[in-house]
Amino acid sequence: MKLILLGAPGAGKGTQAEILCKKLAIPTISTGNILRAAIKDGTPTGLKAKSYIDAGALVPDEVIIGIVNERLAQDDCKNGYILDGVPRTIAQAEALEKTGIQFDAVVSIEISEEEILRRMSGRRVCAACGSSYNVEFVPPRREGICDNCGGKLIQRKDDTPETVRERLKVYHTETEPLVDFYRQRGLLRPVQSAPTKEGTTQAILAALGIDEK
Ligand code: AMP
Repeated sequence: MKLILLGAPGAGKGTQAEILCKKLAIPTISTGNILRAAIKDGTPTGLKAKSYIDAGALVPDEVIIGIVNERLAQDDCKNGYILDGVPRTIAQAEALEKTGIQFDAVVSIEISEEEILRRMSGRRVCAACGSSYNVEFVPPRREGICDNCGGKLIQRKDDTPETVRERLKVYHTETEPLVDFYRQRGLLRPVQSAPTKEGTTQAILAALGIDEK
C-alpha cells in the first residue's frame, strides 16, 4: 500500500500516519521529522532547512525531492509506505510521478481553520523520536514524556501563532492545489477530521476500504 496523507498543518497527518503505519505494517516517511532530525544533527541539509522551517516557509523542492528519493530507495519501503507532509507543492508531486511510483490513494484530511489553530497551540512533539501529541486531544500517558521512547515532549518552534498563520497561508497557496491534482488522477479520498484520533482513523480506513477485523 502506497499512501499519501494530505491536509493543512495541524490536521493530524502525523498522528494518523503513526497509527496507520502500525496497522498496515509499512513505514511512514515524514519530511518534517527527517528535516527536524537533520537540524538536530547539524547536517548540511539541516543547516539549509532551518531558516525556512523557523519562518514557516517551505524548504526548496530540490532539497525535499532529494531527501524523499533517498528514503524511498531504502529496503523497508519495498512493501509500501505512507508519505506524511510530502508532496507539498505541485513540483514535488510531479517529481514523484516522474519516478513512476503508483500510489494507491491520497487521503486528504479536512478540518476547519478554527480547529487547526486550537489544535496547534496544544501540540507537543517528542524531542527524541518525533512522535506527536496534543495536551488536549492526544495526551501522553505521563505529562511531558513520550509514550513511545520516554523522550521529553516539547513545543515546536514553528507552532507559535504567527508562524502558524504563515504556514496556513503557504498551505493554501502551495499545497491545496494538490487536492485537485490528485482528484483529477482519481486517487483522492477526502476524510473529515473527527473529534477523536480514533474516529479519524476509522474514517480513513473506511475511505480506503480496509475492514479492520
Ligand atoms: P511538518 O512537520 O510536516 O509540519 O513540516 C514542518 C516544516 O518542515 C514545514 O513547515 C516546512 O518548512 C518543512 N517541510 C516539511 N515537509 C516539506 C515539504 N514536503 N516541502 C517543503 N517543506 C517541507
